[in-house]
Amino acid sequence: GVPSRGDDKPRILLMGLRRSGKSSIQKVVFHKVSPNETLFLESTNKIIKDDISNSSFVQFQIWDIPGQIDFFDQTFDSEYIFGGCGALIFVIDAQDDYMEALSRLQQAVTRAHKINEAIKFEVFIHKVDGLSDDNKIETQRDILQRATDELADAGMDNVQLSFYLTSIYDHSIFEAFSKVVQKLIPQLPVLENLLDIIISNSKIEKAFLFDVVSKIYIATDSSPVDMQCYELCCDMIDVVIDMSCIYGIRDDGAFDNESGSFIKLNSGTVLFLREVNRHLALVCILREDGCENRGIIEYNFKCFRNAIQEVFVARNKQALGRNGIEGGD
Ligand code: GDP
Repeated sequence: GVPSRGDDKPRILLMGLRRSGKSSIQKVVFHKVSPNETLFLESTNKIIKDDISNSSFVQFQIWDIPGQIDFFDQTFDSEYIFGGCGALIFVIDAQDDYMEALSRLQQAVTRAHKINEAIKFEVFIHKVDGLSDDNKIETQRDILQRATDELADAGMDNVQLSFYLTSIYDHSIFEAFSKVVQKLIPQLPVLENLLDIIISNSKIEKAFLFDVVSKIYIATDSSPVDMQCYELCCDMIDVVIDMSCIYGIRDDGAFDNESGSFIKLNSGTVLFLREVNRHLALVCILREDGCENRGIIEYNFKCFRNAIQEVFVARNKQALGRNGIEGGD
């Protein structure tokens, strides 16, 4: 596609108090840093614009804004920062006292909403790996209650906050980011529809459209997401990338437009991965007896890929009525 200027891209802001985990999240999700390495990250005290659009399909920037920024400070150009922003992720350290964080959240939401009513507010209740299951639920309930009460007191009950329990030590941070990013993709309903079509016509149980670099899924079919399935698909991407690093013919990158894989597990589950374009891959889960006719799956995949290309290249949603995917029987 045509590279767009940085300011055209939907932008995600990552905010929260110092040490809440912002840089760690950014490093783990977008830069393949392992969670343990984040223990030694320098703390941030300025705005970091991390433009990841070269490596990732997801074209947005992460602005890491440390806690002590004063919104009314002259140097904080909130019109500019909130004006072009699609989603504001506010990170709250659930292992710490969160009263200060909640009042910062309140300030940020008030200020941002005043400038840009379209901003989506996403609260990451973070570092929940240190909490027991009961404690997680209780903390989420408490934070949700306090945050929405405060908004109501400020006369802003029309503003919607979404809450996620996250940790960099498992897949929850990727899941949460997936949901945030999906809200910023205008073509999402079309993508979901295409995924529904390919799964029902190919005896596939679950399909994800992945951004390969970040392992965020930018869309999935309409059946519910099971965490274990998602993790399995993430692991498959790692395996395929590692294999093509070793055996691939490209020298500039592991993943190219011929990448693909078909893995049978002992459990009778089959994983199917095909690249869709330079950044996106389709990863599917199916039963072994569902893939007797691999030809149909391959054929349907080609139709799927063409349709996806139409969505992103032409951005002409009307053209998608005919996508030509055929039945599996
Ligand atoms: P920032 O100042 O908001 O950018 O915070 P950092 O990313 O520097 O993180 C502060 C500390 O929190 C680091 O020691 C991280 O290793 C730790 N941390 C970040 N995310 C998590 C998490 O999900 N769980 C746990 N247990 N620690 C985390």
